Amino acid sequence: MIELKHVSKSYRQSDTLIEVLKDINLTIASGEKVAIIGASGSGKSTLLSLMSGMDIPDSGSVLIDGNDIAKMGENKLSQLRNTNIGVIFQSFELVPSFSALENVMLPLDIGGKESRAIAVQALTSVGLSSRMNHLPSMLSGGEEQRVAIARALVQSPSILFADEPTGNLDAQTGEQILAQLMDVAKDRTLVIITHDKEIADRMDRIIEIKGGNINEAAS
Ligand code: ADP
Ligand code: MG
Repeated sequence: MIELKHVSKSYRQSDTLIEVLKDINLTIASGEKVAIIGASGSGKSTLLSLMSGMDIPDSGSVLIDGNDIAKMGENKLSQLRNTNIGVIFQSFELVPSFSALENVMLPLDIGGKESRAIAVQALTSVGLSSRMNHLPSMLSGGEEQRVAIARALVQSPSILFADEPTGNLDAQTGEQILAQLMDVAKDRTLVIITHDKEIADRMDRIIEIKGGNINEAAS
């Protein structure tokens, strides 16, 4: 479960303060599939960085399975992020000099054969068993995104976050990636940021960010 209680977040840019999120209250139950929508610059990625423990709020609290991320300490928080949370980005964020296999092995802190076997399995589960040794530059956008999904899955996280995961893909590839994501997220919590109304409509809930506040749309 993810809980946001009175969460606010601003950024200071020279002498102006940009209030991105204002007093947000939101609870996402385990296993729920949630779409976050909103105009560009409305704070979707900011919200995701707070929910995934990549950043902490200015005020209010973010609890993941009852634990306040601001009070966990860096070690416990990075352990939580590594083992329980998977994040998939629009621009894939793969290491260009690493093969698909090496990219997927990256989050595993065990080494050698064991990591390799887990990474091979993750890549196979997204249909990339024949692309293990390809560098990102040799892959199509859809394949790169599947590597990123495999990488997010290797630790078997219970929560998956995806920030516009189909934003850089053509419609048909985007559809395949979404189907794959829905499949691997079946028994997990999924929070997906999207501009695509059709994608949003396939989730259990739609949350819209506007003017720093959230509105829940009936889906
Ligand atoms: P979205 O993902 O909805 O497009 P973001 O959460 O990325 O929006 O950004 C929300 C607002 O906060 C934007 O106005 C953006 O310029 C600003 N912002 C985001 N990150 C930072 C940062 N690190 N420093 C300053 N301003 C930022
Ligand atoms: Mg964004």
